[in-house]
Amino acid sequence: MASQTPPNCRFYYEDYYRGQQTSECRLPKSRASERWLRSVCDSCPTPTLLRETNCAHLALEGTIRRRRPFGLRMELFAICTRHTAQLKEAGYCAACAEEQAALLNAS
Ligand SMILES: [Zn+2]
Repeated sequence: MASQTPPNCRFYYEDYYRGQQTSECRLPKSRASERWLRSVCDSCPTPTLLRETNCAHLALEGTIRRRRPFGLRMELFAICTRHTAQLKEAGYCAACAEEQAALLNAS
């Protein structure tokens, strides 16, 4: 059973309209993405990445892929829009880290 707790994610929205519950994922998605279902959130790496990233100019694009035997899984493509670098490990941007260190040293 999937949990019914709403995901703690800035891209997740849910709404009650005339007794109907609708929910959606507003993360930008690539053209190759499968349709989003609520169950994708249960294994989605986005909330963790948003917590751990050091990048102040993060942009994310998701691709939902069908992974046997697991079902639908979100794959993330993360970039720093300031340094136009692809971020691989937990949204870590080395250039942003350098800038932040420079700011600290200057004060
Ligand atoms: Zn950066």
